Amino acid sequence: MKRGQGSRLWDEEGREYLDYVLSWGALILGHAPCEVVEAIKRRLFSGTHFGTCTEIEVLFAEMVVELFSSVDMVRMVNSGTEATMSAVRLARGYTGRELLLQFAGCYHGHADPFLVGAGSGLLTYDLPESPGIPRAVGEKTIVAEYNHPEMVEEIFAHRGEEIAGVIVEPVAANMGVVPPRIEFLTRLRELTRKYGALLIFDEVITGFRLGLSGAQGYYGIEVDLTTLGKIIGGGLPVGAYGGRRKIMEHVAPRGPVYQAGTLSGNPLVLEAGYATLQKLITHPSLYDELEEKTKTLVDGLLSIFRTSGISVWINQVGSMFTLFFTPEPVNDYQSARRADTSLYGRFFRAMLEKGVYLPPSQFEACFLSTAHTEEDLAYTLEAASQAVKNL
Ligand SMILES: *Cc1c(COP(=O)(O)O)cnc(C)c1O
Repeated sequence: MKRGQGSRLWDEEGREYLDYVLSWGALILGHAPCEVVEAIKRRLFSGTHFGTCTEIEVLFAEMVVELFSSVDMVRMVNSGTEATMSAVRLARGYTGRELLLQFAGCYHGHADPFLVGAGSGLLTYDLPESPGIPRAVGEKTIVAEYNHPEMVEEIFAHRGEEIAGVIVEPVAANMGVVPPRIEFLTRLRELTRKYGALLIFDEVITGFRLGLSGAQGYYGIEVDLTTLGKIIGGGLPVGAYGGRRKIMEHVAPRGPVYQAGTLSGNPLVLEAGYATLQKLITHPSLYDELEEKTKTLVDGLLSIFRTSGISVWINQVGSMFTLFFTPEPVNDYQSARRADTSLYGRFFRAMLEKGVYLPPSQFEACFLSTAHTEEDLAYTLEAASQAVKNL
């Protein structure tokens, strides 16, 4: 791709696409929104990095702390992977335990502990795990089924005292979108509390995607640690993790759990992120509008497929959704895997042909931005009704 503006992308050959990938959900305001471009420009001419604290870092942290009731302190890093990796180290350092519990089909970045049974690229390429990870690391990760609280209960009954933390995507979006059963999330909270493990919500996608206080605000769950990324960087590389003061004070230099980063808290990134979040904060109705637009699109797609006789199942949460080529409900990893990926591939290519860029995998989410218009949606539905004819 060569250029992006609003809801559109242009490739090197000048072809135009409506973008539903949006840098894997990062670009909630679309490409090159003027507020963000202006913020970056302002910073660019007064130095892009100092390796020490800047005002924007403080303002940014204060904003996150104010919006997320479970976060008293926040540490900036450079990617979602760094955020989850550091949060897990902190959970282990804080509890003095080693086991990590995660869920099949969730994705928490590419750090060693997470690449067992993971979603996103591993699921797309059908890799059960990645080579290059010492067995000893893999043995410290337990993988349970998403949305199956009884399984989590069983694991805690056996090994609860050894579990440092549970990391979960509160809305799974890396096996395609899979909404959580509310009793799944509440049970995770109860069990981690009962056994003294930390509950980590990986909100790298959901943070500022579902609302101003992430999925934890959306579902009303009080968590121990939160990881953020994607949207909070306004299109530049970023990550953050935060939580209760008594936990976060274990991070160096206050505490002994080491974590650092030369470019962390980079003011160029934080200016872009801050401008993005300010836009969302000052226009809270944007979330309802985004959800409404997404529903219009999803309803339209459902009716096109119903007419065509091709069975699909669509999961939507807020402004993200996935169209699965399967007649059954998709509510966990197993059901997601039953979707017909080759049919998805044909649909993806037919849509691309018509200038609509969907995620190039059955197991990724479609995202809308505030830049997507009613006309964009109408165009997409028209393209879809053409595309289904040749499936
Ligand atoms: C993208 C993603 C990550 C990793 O973030 P990177 O910036 O790619 O390292 C972690 N967790 C979730 C839920 C993600 O979607």
